[in-house]
Amino acid sequence: MLIIVIFTVSLSIILDNMTKSPSREDLTSNITYNAFVNYIESDNVATIYDYNKNAKKIKGKLKNGDLFITDNPESEDMKKYILEHGISLEEKPFNEKLFQSFIGMLLSIVPIIITIALISLFMGRLLKKQYSSNKDTKFGITMKCDITFDNVAGNEEAKQNMMELVDFLVSPERFKKFGVVPPKGTVLFGPPGTGKTLLAKALAGTAGVPFIAVSGSDFVEKFVGVGASRIRQLFEFARKSSPCIIFIDEIDALGKRSSSDGSGSGDERDRTLNQILVEIDGFSGSEGIIVIAATNRLDMLDPALLRSGRFDRQIQVALPDVDARLSILELHAKNKPLGSDIDLKEVAKMTVYMSGADLANVMNEAGIYAVRNNHSYITMKDIDNAISKIQAGEEKRNKKNITLKDKEITAYHEAGHALVAKLLSGATVSKVTIIPTTKGAGGYTLFLPDEKMFSTKRDLLNDIAVFLAGRASEEIIFGENNVTNGASDDLRKATQIAMNMVKNFGMSQNVGLVSFLDIHSNSSSNTNDNTIEKEVKDIIEQVYKETKELLKDNSDCLKNIATLLLERETIFKKDVDNIVENTMFKRGS
Ligand code: ADP
Ligand code: ZN
Repeated sequence: MLIIVIFTVSLSIILDNMTKSPSREDLTSNITYNAFVNYIESDNVATIYDYNKNAKKIKGKLKNGDLFITDNPESEDMKKYILEHGISLEEKPFNEKLFQSFIGMLLSIVPIIITIALISLFMGRLLKKQYSSNKDTKFGITMKCDITFDNVAGNEEAKQNMMELVDFLVSPERFKKFGVVPPKGTVLFGPPGTGKTLLAKALAGTAGVPFIAVSGSDFVEKFVGVGASRIRQLFEFARKSSPCIIFIDEIDALGKRSSSDGSGSGDERDRTLNQILVEIDGFSGSEGIIVIAATNRLDMLDPALLRSGRFDRQIQVALPDVDARLSILELHAKNKPLGSDIDLKEVAKMTVYMSGADLANVMNEAGIYAVRNNHSYITMKDIDNAISKIQAGEEKRNKKNITLKDKEITAYHEAGHALVAKLLSGATVSKVTIIPTTKGAGGYTLFLPDEKMFSTKRDLLNDIAVFLAGRASEEIIFGENNVTNGASDDLRKATQIAMNMVKNFGMSQNVGLVSFLDIHSNSSSNTNDNTIEKEVKDIIEQVYKETKELLKDNSDCLKNIATLLLERETIFKKDVDNIVENTMFKRGS
């Protein structure tokens, strides 16, 4: 660009030179070519100035002293014609000057051009290098986060803990005066989507400091072999940008307990982890750098990371409870038009076990449904669709390949779950459907379990019964040899509960109050293993028997639920409640 500018400037200088004529031209009169020829023929022309065969004009002086200018016919023999008439001819003295000035100009420009070319070449390389080094360091750098704690709802405790860190970043001198060493590392732990990244960004945003992010999984995938040097670069960059936040997501990918994985990649990971420890240990505390790490599994982390002076602050970020869910929903509903039929409290109740990210997603998907259906605001139906989509995967649009028999089996399987849940556990059955999902389930039953702190042995046995009820119903209706593989996930979950009861909760006769939580199966004796297995099996078999009895006793209810399911494909709480009440009433009369 610079080069072009200079060219245009010099060109205009040259053009100026060409058009700027000598002062005598000011007195010049324009004459026609015919008049010019007449003047020559009548021997009245004294001189021709600046003659150039290709010039547009011919300038000259008459013998009476008048200056003239006329069109140049640009003919080959004009010069000969003029000379033959004894007229003195001055050939393009200006052009020579022009040529000289052009050469002079060129000579003065060339070094500039060369300099500029060299500079731009150098700059280009520099930028390219910077860009590519940025590309392979892959630190996500946000100089100015516009997220604050106002963007985080629920989880007040974690929020409070994080807010305390703001002051260390904003006014470190205050703490220094009291000899306080600021916390160096904080681990946020909790299930995915609970807002760990959000909290770290809110801290950076509130303190107005840069947010430098990296993910542990990058070190396993992208930075193989250079992990330690990347960590060095990361902290070097942070020192230059301090005060700032370093956010290490999925730190478990780097800082796993060495015993939990015997793979050969351990060495490399250890070097990377060690470098983190070296960097953090090297902090004097006055750098103004706070390192925030996030993980789903605190128990998986190497204890060396959690030692005091390192990631010694551990903040739990749990799944939101019903009140937290309400405030998260309210936050994400703020910029959306909601219909009057929407009660976000109800939505909060319907979304047990959903994370903040799921809830944000629910509001967003509901918005998408509303736009697609040309609503002028979001309706409860849009929210309902969104919840179903997020809980169970989007309902398959193509239902052609489901046979009637499949549908029937699914209907009885789900009816079994729903009925046993309704009869035993007192859980609210909010939705039962036989519409397959893209997640692979044939259908599903959504429960809203009570949110309580403890589960009794009875609660756990009931939970097992609810899981086994799908298979039990299949067996009762279609016969022992016609049960399907659709229950595999149910069986796994039922077994897990029974296993916990025996191994960890002291809830079985023959194992008693011993906990096996910290004992690896290979270190405990075979007798123990056999006893545990037998106890688990006994529990499952006993509950299965009882569940079948319960379903047989209520087979009319079971059939009514399944029939309604086949008819409507999806039924809700009030449908199940109605069927159970009506059937009981009929039976009683
Ligand atoms: P994590 O890091 O725990 O996996 P994120 O912080 O990435 O979860 O959360 C993803 C998104 O979910 C956030 O950007 C936000 O939109 C939403 N979200 C999660 N938790 C909350 C919360 N407590 N309040 C508001 N929004 C939340
Ligand atoms: Zn099932």
